[in-house]
Amino acid sequence: MQNIVTNILQKTFNVSPKIHLTLAESNYIVNLNGRPVAAQTQSQYDSSSGVLNITTYIRIDQIDPAASQEYKASLLIHEIVHAYIFTHPEVLNGLTQHAYMLQNYIDGILGLCKLSFPLTSQQAASLALGGLGDDMTGTQAFADALTKYGFTTDNNSNNYQFYLQQFQYGTIGIHCND
Ligand SMILES: [Zn+2]
Repeated sequence: MQNIVTNILQKTFNVSPKIHLTLAESNYIVNLNGRPVAAQTQSQYDSSSGVLNITTYIRIDQIDPAASQEYKASLLIHEIVHAYIFTHPEVLNGLTQHAYMLQNYIDGILGLCKLSFPLTSQQAASLALGGLGDDMTGTQAFADALTKYGFTTDNNSNNYQFYLQQFQYGTIGIHCND
């Protein structure tokens, strides 16, 4: 796991801090609107030792038991990007973390998903954009991203959540207990 995370940071941010990643379960993590979320991350950079300490909380009751490896990996990658931004808040320049992620890291997350799993570009883009939908939906930046990756908000196979939801509920993808 440690190697995967270090790899993600190198590929996504072109940096290689030492990582100490802790995964923990929590039954009460929620977003700013009070809605339960599948994962949430805290991080802290120790400049004297050069170690990035990341704690990612996973809310099991928000993850379908049949969820695919692709979905869980995309969730973790998303959280690690948060961890990095938390420790470099100056990069935000007034944007929210998701707005900044949308602007700078979707191609990186998408590329990493494709490197890790045999995905089409549309499937990887669906996974990469999935975690942003809640608070970015309705913004011009999100509408532009949907156009860029060939998605619409229509209720058909062009919807950006079309593949995400199938990976999320395990109707496609690699099962975790196979
Ligand atoms: Zn997020």
